[in-house]
Amino acid sequence: MHEYPYIVGGQARSGSEGSFEVIEPATGKPFARCAAAGREQLDEAVALARQAFAGWRCSSHEQRGAALSNIAADIEADAEAIARLIVREQGKPLALAMNEVMGGVAWARYRAAQQLPVEVIEDSGQNRIELHRRPLGVVASITPWNWPFMIAVWHIMPALRAGNCVISKPSSLTPLSTLKLGEIIARHVPAGVMSVLTGVGGLGGAMAAHPGIDKIVFTGSTQTGQRVMRDGAVNLKRLTLELGGNDAAIVLPGSDVQQIAGPIFQAAFLNMGQTCAALKRLYVHRSIYQPLCQALVGLAQQAVIGNGLEEGVTFGPVQNPDQLALVEALVADARAQGATVLCGGERLAGEGFFYPPTLVADISDGSRLVDEEQFGPVLPIVAYDDVEEVLQRANASQFALGGSVWGPDGEAAAALAARLESGVAWVNCHAQIRPDTPFGGCKMSGYGVEFGQEGLLAFTAQQLLFRHKG
Ligand code: NAD
Repeated sequence: MHEYPYIVGGQARSGSEGSFEVIEPATGKPFARCAAAGREQLDEAVALARQAFAGWRCSSHEQRGAALSNIAADIEADAEAIARLIVREQGKPLALAMNEVMGGVAWARYRAAQQLPVEVIEDSGQNRIELHRRPLGVVASITPWNWPFMIAVWHIMPALRAGNCVISKPSSLTPLSTLKLGEIIARHVPAGVMSVLTGVGGLGGAMAAHPGIDKIVFTGSTQTGQRVMRDGAVNLKRLTLELGGNDAAIVLPGSDVQQIAGPIFQAAFLNMGQTCAALKRLYVHRSIYQPLCQALVGLAQQAVIGNGLEEGVTFGPVQNPDQLALVEALVADARAQGATVLCGGERLAGEGFFYPPTLVADISDGSRLVDEEQFGPVLPIVAYDDVEEVLQRANASQFALGGSVWGPDGEAAAALAARLESGVAWVNCHAQIRPDTPFGGCKMSGYGVEFGQEGLLAFTAQQLLFRHKG
């Protein structure tokens, strides 16, 4: 079985801590091994990054922009091979994995073209006052298993563009596509600037607590994000935390059911529901509840479930057995409380972690499936009568990543969406994420934003240069 090395300061290395298996969700069996790094390699990667930072921070914007453009070109040239690796380690269908890779290319190109202008606050006979943006130093990127390649690109590209060195740690469930990304990046940046450390047990925590790391950009669960915040306090690390969500969507009376069913289904079941900003609670006005439920069931029945490498498959497995067990537990709890499972609701027999798209009706707030983040292929559909009351229910969550309002009158829907307590409020769409639009959560869904100019500034420190001319 092929063993993938990790990368320290740009060099491929075998594991001092041995290696671990990478399981293919479509079969439930290991298909590769990955070298495991430990604290010694972390210390070495930090030391190399700190050395390299002295030069990399002085590189010009043109040099760094060119490096990112070259990285984007190399990713594009290898897109299909990377996408196939994503399918094997993550499970999503090949077409979606290609979108993930090409999304990474688009994000890298957007970052390559961005500028970090110096702001001149005063230029008079007396003073010249400039606000500069300096790189922070060494940034650690810690990523989850749902969109392993794209989220790594989201973290690493702005960090490099702003002049930082990066140590990336992918989820041990999906390390391989990030290693491939690290290998490509290492070709285009000086030695020491890029490391990818793979490992199990404690590596992420050691990074969060490491005094030689200046910032953590973390995407994962709220619980782990809280630990990163606590451990990072050791040297007041800068933080960007993209955490869990339980996005509500409110469908207003008079909505065109046939028109909205497709985009709602897509937003809920994107990546088998394993998407941070997926639509996770659907509130539908009682006047159109039955027809919308029926339309969604029709779409669920069209899913072609199977191994993502097979032609025609549109719906892959859940990534890992723990997540599958959570989905099963939430559906069992809903059933026990009298909810109706409209379709799906049982794990598929045979190998792999397959669970069909599942719609659960006759359910309400107070049920685990509505109140908790399912992060899998099941959607609770809740009927409501009063718009003001449903807004309160949507806002009653500890999570506040995204949310949406759907309705025939765009202005009225936008007015309601503006009252959602969420980092992003969509109208007649959901989970629309772009490189140029800031994205991030409120409350327990996170801290800081990614994307856009604000997402780039998050990888910089301000320095005010105040020159008195007298
Ligand atoms: P997780 O929190 O279990 O793991 C995320 C990463 O943190 C992994 O690389 C893991 O190895 C590492 N880690 C584990 N313990 C750590 C510690 N003590 N210190 C530092 N790092 C540690 O999350 P997951 O199960 O991989 O991902 C699913 C979760 O991620 C869901 O809650 C989902 O909503 C969230 N997510 C959020 C976004 C977003 O943009 N807001 C995007 C994707 C996923």
